[in-house]
Amino acid sequence: MADIIQLLPDHVANQIAAGEVVQRPASVVKELLENAIDAGADSIKLIIKDAGKTLVQVIDNGKGMSNTDARLSFERHATSKIRTADDLFQLHTKGFRGEALASIAAIAHVELKTKQETDDIGNTIVIEGSRVASQDVVVTPKGTSISVKNLFFNIPARRNFLKSDTVELRHVIDEFHRVALAHPGISFVLYNNGSETFNLPICNFRQRIVNIFGAKTNEKLVPVEEETDVLKISGFVGKPEFAKKTRGEQYFFVNDRFIKSAYLNHAISSAFDGLLKNGTHPSYFLNLTVDPQTIDINIHPTKTEIKFDDEHTLYALIRSAVKHSLGQFNIAPVLDFERDPTLDTPYNYNKSIANTPKVEVDKSYNPFNDESVSKAKAVAYKKEPTTSWESLYVGLESKGTKTQQDFSEVHFESDEATVSMFSNDKEIEHTHTTYQLHNKYIVSTIKSGMLVIDQHRAHQRVLYEDFLKNMTIKEGISQQLLFPLELHFSNQDIVIINQLKDDLQHTGFVFSSVKEESVEITGVPVSVPESEVSIILEQLISDVENEVPDSNFSATDLLAKSMAKSLAIKTGQSLQKDEQEHLVNKLFACKEPNVSPTNRATFITMSVDELDKKFI
Ligand code: ADP
Ligand code: MG
Repeated sequence: MADIIQLLPDHVANQIAAGEVVQRPASVVKELLENAIDAGADSIKLIIKDAGKTLVQVIDNGKGMSNTDARLSFERHATSKIRTADDLFQLHTKGFRGEALASIAAIAHVELKTKQETDDIGNTIVIEGSRVASQDVVVTPKGTSISVKNLFFNIPARRNFLKSDTVELRHVIDEFHRVALAHPGISFVLYNNGSETFNLPICNFRQRIVNIFGAKTNEKLVPVEEETDVLKISGFVGKPEFAKKTRGEQYFFVNDRFIKSAYLNHAISSAFDGLLKNGTHPSYFLNLTVDPQTIDINIHPTKTEIKFDDEHTLYALIRSAVKHSLGQFNIAPVLDFERDPTLDTPYNYNKSIANTPKVEVDKSYNPFNDESVSKAKAVAYKKEPTTSWESLYVGLESKGTKTQQDFSEVHFESDEATVSMFSNDKEIEHTHTTYQLHNKYIVSTIKSGMLVIDQHRAHQRVLYEDFLKNMTIKEGISQQLLFPLELHFSNQDIVIINQLKDDLQHTGFVFSSVKEESVEITGVPVSVPESEVSIILEQLISDVENEVPDSNFSATDLLAKSMAKSLAIKTGQSLQKDEQEHLVNKLFACKEPNVSPTNRATFITMSVDELDKKFI
């Protein structure tokens, strides 16, 4: 048989490489910024249009390229940064693979302008899908400007795969933050759709963090410094009380390169052990300096994962350095103990009766017990009088058409008006006993067999329909706060809050001001405890940022989902009998009781027949 193997043409090989290196506009941003840094620039501009889908441009004042280099830079494996394989373990540059420009030029329209300091005139090259369209001389300042237009123009599948502009811009900004944080000695400016979004002057690391994340960040930072033979650590961790529920700002830089490491992240979490509220994550901004010989950066095309020779030692060093800082800054002791001041003054008070420490966190908080909450829930439903829960359950399929909710009828329910499915009907009372299984499921009998309800999902459904309704009729009940609540956010987060402000107000939030880096809240929905407000808003912002493509996106829906997720009773929470029954009643009074807001089953049934079969 004839030989069938052949070498792929360069442009095909480049497109394949691009699949690894360029996943989205943010990947282009990363590669171009890194090249500008490697070129020794101290001023870098990033210009973005349509979240980078239309344009990513990076302009630097670095050393520029000669005429020949300008052309060569787009070849695969063309690099000025290493010469031999040994150099891989002596890296002092961001790049070394020599494939970024070749990959990018294979899948976009690229225009390069570059000039070295000593040259009078610069060079420009236009490349489209690996094909050089033109090359010429040009008048341009010292340094390099690369524009990448119409990303994935020749790979529609990849282009369609890109997320909404909000999501892609989030990735671009994340990448920009990572690079800018690693290089406070370089000034960075970001223009997004013509407006200046970040302007970061040359400064020290702490100022860079503050310039990016907002003035309020300054007081949250605790310095971490440690120097040993194998590792130098410098940077900051966030005070535990500012830990975030959804996305701590977590940054490791190894030799000025942002990296991801679940293992080292764990070292930090364990240093914070016992200091954080459940489910929150500490912020950290840590620079690690190690001998380049002891790491391998070439294990991943995007160079964000690296292999350390001795990870265990680094783990121990990082953990103890962070612990030390937390202790030194008096953070650990204060939070470790619920300190009672009388215990600190043994002399005068040694005969006084010990005070019982106050429990500050209401662990048993249960939205169902709260009077105000049940009011809030009541307003969302004009409950259909039901005599049998089973009839509701049975009628599920036809329910969508049956109940056109009349919003004008919504009113406060009085207790008498609430028809419980459990109270008046003797037969039902004895059939429908509920039982909580592993603080997770509510089990009950139905005529045909058995019903098992997932309490967390069921409650999400109930709250989701509540919020959705309140937002639609614009009638969320608000409870006024005694003192206005001031919360701090980054400016990007404020943009999102502004987008959602109207809907949030319909759920019952009252904003007295939304300005740079902070919002002031004077009222919250009755179902939202004040202590949860910042967590809910954070969760919401992160949900908006990670939302699915534009087409399915509705701010109202997302808001309702996000709040329902934050507030729903959790798995692991024990429920009283009446609470279990209440939840079941509420669930089956929903429009779509079968599924949670994220479309997962809220309950399953098992018929007696099925059970019988298991006993054969
Ligand atoms: P790598 O960065 O891995 O070397 P790239 O494809 O990103 O590979 O770049 C190829 C070469 O082009 C670089 O090694 C460098 O010599 C040159 N180059 C790229 N961008 C710039 C820039 N902004 N200024 C000067 N030279 C650059
Ligand atoms: Mg590079």
